Amino acid sequence: MKTEFLLVGQGLCGTWLSYFLEQEKRDFIVLDPGHLPNASLMAGGLINPVTGRRLVTTWLIDELMPFAQLHYTELGQQLYSEQYSHSPQLIEERSILQFFSHPDSANIFTVRATEQQDYLHRPTTAPDSARFFDPLLGLGLIKKSYQIALDVLLPAYKDKLRKEGRLLEKKFNYQALKKSSNGFRFEDIEFDQLIFCDGIGLHDNPLFDHLPVAPVKGEALIVQAPGLPATHIFKGPLTMTPLKRTDHWWVGSSYEWDFTDAQPSEQFRTSTEHSLRQWLKVPFTVADHWAAIRPGSKERRPFVGKHPQEPRIGLLGGMGTKGCSLAPYFARQLVQHLLYDAPLHPEADLGRFNIN
Ligand SMILES: Cc1cc2nc3c(=O)[nH]c(=O)nc-3n(C[C@H](O)[C@H](O)[C@H](O)COP(=O)(O)OP(=O)(O)OC[C@H]3O[C@@H](n4cnc5c(N)ncnc54)[C@H](O)[C@@H]3O)c2cc1C
Repeated sequence: MKTEFLLVGQGLCGTWLSYFLEQEKRDFIVLDPGHLPNASLMAGGLINPVTGRRLVTTWLIDELMPFAQLHYTELGQQLYSEQYSHSPQLIEERSILQFFSHPDSANIFTVRATEQQDYLHRPTTAPDSARFFDPLLGLGLIKKSYQIALDVLLPAYKDKLRKEGRLLEKKFNYQALKKSSNGFRFEDIEFDQLIFCDGIGLHDNPLFDHLPVAPVKGEALIVQAPGLPATHIFKGPLTMTPLKRTDHWWVGSSYEWDFTDAQPSEQFRTSTEHSLRQWLKVPFTVADHWAAIRPGSKERRPFVGKHPQEPRIGLLGGMGTKGCSLAPYFARQLVQHLLYDAPLHPEADLGRFNIN
């Protein structure tokens, strides 16, 4: 079997890279066995225009938001025309209702709301859905935030790749990679370029061991809370985002830099259930418990581009906590770079790292 590009991994990065290669009518195959850790399937799907305790405007957000809006919508339409009887809505604008748990966070929000009126607002009257929560110390509204239906997108795109014969459900193994005169070979696949979209697999990827990868474990509970209206994303001691499955909510998440495994932990489940019981006024049951490792970078910027010594090997990764907005934007940049030598954003370009 021969192809132009071999992509390793079908999380958000592999999905978006496939999408933009297809737009350019290029030939590719995606390898993903389906049983390795996949952060995209565990994520809350949130695109938040502000970040951290100080509500700093998210890096590149004014470019990332319209890009995400346009391309998630187009991808939904493509999946619709190809395999569904109704259009899967992959992106929805949904404000975040933030409940303050400390006077400092209320004060910071008030100050930032005067500086950043595009995104932040202190409502004078609480929205109706706020009555389902202990109000804590008041609330603020983060506008122009988006939610991505990852639970629809990733399985639907996998189906599409499978039907097109572009998905091989097997693991890439570095030892089996052979260089040939004008490209590479892996088992019976011959290809010109190899692009890693392997998420946290990058941590053990010998071809990119010079990169400052920073893995961060995260856990979330999936809860069923009948009666809680899906009007907002709710953010208090926890973040609650509504899932497509009726009455189901994603509740997360933890940030652990020191961990021994990627498994769901009893400690997270107990403390999350406890916090939720204090904050949410409607009864809920736990339907599932997820855990994954965010493929982050120490400088909180993605890894995009070609290997410094072997330009036919590339990488799209290091998306950290922001894969929903960064993956589509940088997948397109990488495709333009690979095909037309278009420049990469200097803060994302792999060329910023030296190899010894
Ligand atoms: C709990 C949690 C909550 C999060 N919430 C959000 C959020 O609300 N918003 C947001 O933007 N981001 C969020 N993130 C971050 C987001 O999930 C990541 O940035 C993004 O999913 C990374 O995508 P990826 O494609 O790089 O990696 P992944 O989604 O991990 O995909 C990597 C793929 O590569 C495959 N793979 C790895 N090694 C190999 C190999 N050797 N051969 C073949 N295949 C291989 C794996 O099977 C996997 O499918 C969250 C993450 C976690 C853990």
